[in-house]
Amino acid sequence: MATPYIPLNGKPCIVVHYAEVGLKGENRGQFENQLRRNIHRALAPVGIKSVERSFGRLLVYLPREFNWEELEARLLRVFGVAHFSPAVILPQDMEIIRQAAVEMMKQLSFESFRVTTRRPQKEFPLKSPEINAQIGAAIQQETGARVDLHHPEATCYIEIVNKMAILYVSRVPGPGGLPVGVSEKAVALLSAGIDSPVASYKMMKRGVKLIFVHFHSVPATSTASQENSRRIVRILTRYQYVSKLYLIPILDLQKEIMAHAPTKLRVLLYRRVMFRLAQMVAEREKAVALVTGESVGQVASQTLSNIRVINDAVTLPVLRPLAGEDKKDIIDLAKEIGTFEISTEPFEDCCSLFIPKHPETKGDVQVVREVEKKLALEPLYPVAFQNAEVIKFKYPESS
Ligand code: ATP
Ligand code: MG
Repeated sequence: MATPYIPLNGKPCIVVHYAEVGLKGENRGQFENQLRRNIHRALAPVGIKSVERSFGRLLVYLPREFNWEELEARLLRVFGVAHFSPAVILPQDMEIIRQAAVEMMKQLSFESFRVTTRRPQKEFPLKSPEINAQIGAAIQQETGARVDLHHPEATCYIEIVNKMAILYVSRVPGPGGLPVGVSEKAVALLSAGIDSPVASYKMMKRGVKLIFVHFHSVPATSTASQENSRRIVRILTRYQYVSKLYLIPILDLQKEIMAHAPTKLRVLLYRRVMFRLAQMVAEREKAVALVTGESVGQVASQTLSNIRVINDAVTLPVLRPLAGEDKKDIIDLAKEIGTFEISTEPFEDCCSLFIPKHPETKGDVQVVREVEKKLALEPLYPVAFQNAEVIKFKYPESS
C-alpha cells in the first residue's frame, strides 16, 4: 500500500484489530498483552515506542514522518493481527471529524462508499447511525459518490474510543493466528529441508514459542546443513523475536546403528534417536511438545506405521502440522515465508548419507524395540547432548 495520507490536524497512528481472542474468554488480557509486546518488539527497531491497548484494539502511535512500507512489512509478520489500518486520531468533535473524513476519502477514487462507525465508548452524544448519516452526507456532497451499504467501493471507518475519534479509510489484512508466546513452548526438529521450516511457521502462528533442534553428522558430512538451518532460524526468528538453535552431533549414534542394526531399519532408528534427543532438549527448556515436518505418505519413513514406530520413542506429544498437507501447498508456503530457496540448496542430509535402498515402509514397534535394545545407544545420548552447540538469535539482529 502506498504511503497513507494523514490529515495534518490529527495525530497519526495505526489501529490494530485482532480476532479469535473472543474464543479465549479469561485469557483475553494475556492475549492482548502478548500481542502488544510482540508488536512493540516488531516495531521498536524502526523507532516506534508506544503501543497501547484501547477498548479491544491496539493503537500504535506514529511520529509525523514514518516509513509505511517498513511498518507494514513488520506488522504482516505479527501473528494475532487480524487487520490493521493507518489512521488519524482526532478530538471527539463532529466538525473536525467531518473535515478529516472528507479529506481522507478524497484521496481515494470511488463511486460508492459507506461510513462504518464503532462506538465502544457510549458516552459520546451521537449514536453510530447518526454519525454515519452526518459524515456520509458530507462525503457524498464533496465527492458525488453514492452510498452503498452492502458493496461499497470505499469505506470510511470511524471509531469513537477513549476520548478520541479515530478515522481510517483502508484496512490491511494481517496474518491472523495467535500471538507467539500465548501457547506455551515446543521443540521443533528442523532439518533444513522444505517441510520442517513450514511446520515451525504454522505452530508459531498458533502462538507456540519454538526452540529449534538440528541434527548433523559432521565430520561425515559437511557443515552445510548447519549453516542452512541457521539461515532458516534467522528467518523464522522474525516471527518470535528470539530463538535458540541446538546443533546436535549424532554421527556416533548413527555409526552404532549402521554397524549393528538391519539396514532396512536404519532410518527408523535414526528418527527415534532424534526424537529422544529432542525430548531431552524439551526437558531442559521446559517445552511440552515436539514439532516435525512429517507429512503422511510423503516418503518411506512417513507411512502411518512408521510414524507410530518413531513416535514410540518419546512420551511428549508430537505435533505434525503438515500431516495432511500436499507437497505443492507446503512448497507454496515455504516460498511465501522465504525458506524455500535455502531448503532447496544442495546439502548432504545426515540421513540421506546413510540411507538404505529399500527402507522399511511398514515398521513394527515390537521388532524395532527389540533391535534397539541390542544396540549400545544409551551412553551415547548424554554425550551427544553435551556436545550440542547452542546458538541464540535475535530479531532484529544487533549489528
Ligand atoms: P524436511 O523437508 O523437513 O526435511 P522430509 O520430508 O525431508 O522433511 P524426513 O527427512 O523424513 O522428511 O524428516 C521428517 C522430519 O524429521 C522433518 O520434517 C524434521 O522435522 C525431522 N528431521 C529430519 N531430519 C532432521 C535433522 N537432520 N535435524 C532435525 N530434524 C530432522
Ligand atoms: Mg528432510
